[in-house]
Amino acid sequence: MPKGSIAENLNSVAARIVTACQSCDRSPESVTLLAVSKTRPAADVRAARSAGQRHFGENYLQEALEKQQALTDLDIVWHFIGPLQSNKTRDVAANFQWMHTVDRLKVARRLSEQRPPNLPPLNVCLQVNIDEEESKSGVSPENLPALAAAVAELPNLRLRGLMAIPARRGENEDQRTPFRQLAALLAALKAQLPDQPLDTLSMGMSGDMEAAVFSGATIVRIGTDIFGARQ
Ligand SMILES: *Cc1c(COP(=O)(O)O)cnc(C)c1O
Repeated sequence: MPKGSIAENLNSVAARIVTACQSCDRSPESVTLLAVSKTRPAADVRAARSAGQRHFGENYLQEALEKQQALTDLDIVWHFIGPLQSNKTRDVAANFQWMHTVDRLKVARRLSEQRPPNLPPLNVCLQVNIDEEESKSGVSPENLPALAAAVAELPNLRLRGLMAIPARRGENEDQRTPFRQLAALLAALKAQLPDQPLDTLSMGMSGDMEAAVFSGATIVRIGTDIFGARQ
């Protein structure tokens, strides 16, 4: 658990990203740090923004909209990373630049239809249920190619890549396995849909960030190690 201020914690997370990138010959600029601010007050987002953090991820729509209202003076890139009911798509379409958890066509269609015409297309990642867990959201690897092909047709979305929340592996298992699987699925999608801007692997959280960077993550989603433990 981090003990420092938000600014200090951001520095140590950034340093971990640099170290992880160096040990696998990647450029640190190829990894974007997404600060996950769910359950945190707007003041914490403001503190992180003052420390230079620009990308923020939120899971709960109502909470996110309230924070956005309190922070309209700041230049922030907002990412929605939580589960979304299809009747709540309008607020995501209007208030976020990124949506990481698209896992069915109905939600994608609505996001595209509801994206305000004055905004650029919404960046979307498809969430993959990489461990094929019964209870988890996400499209199955088997159904991913069909979903991706359909989403690629939607005019007001930009299909940027894949997102996953793999189960934590035990001590003797390799946490990189599910991340490598997600990377392989993205490579296959690039071959399937060569005209799409598929450049994003949204994977890795506080506990498994290094394994994700080693496996090609381009966005790591970090909450606890920046803001401290959640209630
Ligand atoms: C909460 C959350 C995170 C951040 O998790 P930490 O373990 O606190 O870093 C990342 N991604 C998603 C989808 C989350 O819901």
